[in-house]
Amino acid sequence: MAQKKKVEKEKYLWVNRRWCKRCGICATVCPKNVIDYDSEGYPVFARMDDCIYCLNCVLYCPDYAIFENKEDQEYVKEIL
Ligand code: SF4
Ligand code: SF4
Repeated sequence: MAQKKKVEKEKYLWVNRRWCKRCGICATVCPKNVIDYDSEGYPVFARMDDCIYCLNCVLYCPDYAIFENKEDQEYVKEIL
């Protein structure tokens, strides 16, 4: 009998700095303390091994600045 194999989506998140206003909400709503800030105050996903992919950070960002599409990242960065 064929066994079903669970395929987990690769965890990948990035911030569009053109839209991010450095409010810190994403770090506040992250239940696993994944997000730090860089020297300019922008969020960085510093501990992705701890990320449970709840997507709170994506949903609560007031500026829709967090994305999960790795494949189109460069293209999206150019047009947004
Ligand atoms: S919630 Fe959005 S706008 Fe605020 S710091 Fe995070 S990514 Fe930037
Ligand atoms: S998806 Fe959830 S656990 Fe992962 S960084 Fe965002 S808020 Fe934190």
